[in-house]
Amino acid sequence: MARPEFDIVVIGGGAGGLVVAAGGASLGAKVALVEKHKMGGDCLWYGCVPSKTLIKSAHVAHAMRHADRWAIPPHAPSPRLAAVMERVAGVIRGIEPTDSPERFRSLGVDVNLGDGKFVAPDAFEVNGRRLTAKTFVIATMFLWVRATFPRFRYDQIMRLGWKIFIPVTLVWLVVVGLVIQSPWNIWK
Ligand SMILES: Cc1cc2nc3c(=O)[nH]c(=O)nc-3n(C[C@H](O)[C@H](O)[C@H](O)COP(=O)(O)OP(=O)(O)OC[C@H]3O[C@@H](n4cnc5c(N)ncnc54)[C@H](O)[C@@H]3O)c2cc1C
Repeated sequence: MARPEFDIVVIGGGAGGLVVAAGGASLGAKVALVEKHKMGGDCLWYGCVPSKTLIKSAHVAHAMRHADRWAIPPHAPSPRLAAVMERVAGVIRGIEPTDSPERFRSLGVDVNLGDGKFVAPDAFEVNGRRLTAKTFVIATMFLWVRATFPRFRYDQIMRLGWKIFIPVTLVWLVVVGLVIQSPWNIWK
């Protein structure tokens, strides 16, 4: 059997995949990364970064309105949402280079932008290129189900999630109930 081209192929360039790719490369592993949308994933574009930036503006406005708590004359600001959202975009732009393909290439990671699929247990194909590896890391968040089983549709994944989530929650509530109940009976 031919020797694989890479030690690790990481599928998904979000927070998880980027950490694995940078860590692997820094330890001397030969790493390839595949990202089908935008490097940085949910955290940079839709999650942690935009939400915390927005929340910061809300905190500042709230603190200004209630500044008397800190012995400062209060002031009711009238924030402009467009300006706040422009700041959110600016913060994302400031972080984007850190997660960019250029930066990861400079770290020695072979970055491949495009949607791919497994064509063999040891091969992932993207943009007509076959990436073979000893280890694959699927870092596509819950979308791993889709990457692994492309025939699954989004609603099928969600339905499966609920079918597992509801019984597990019910069992958990019963167990917690029993645990709380017994010291209560002893106390009585
Ligand atoms: C509103 C909000 C606020 C949040 N705030 C925080 C916070 O403050 N702190 C915190 O720790 N977490 C926060 N999170 C959670 C955080 O965003 C996620 O935990 C994190 O993004 C998960 O990273 P990931 O790499 O697993 O997945 P993702 O970031 O989703 O990355 C997966 C990547 O895989 C790519 N991909 C998917 N399928 C394929 C494929 N077939 N081939 C190639 N690429 C593919 C996607 O395009 C994506 O870039 C927040 C989430 C939300 C929604």
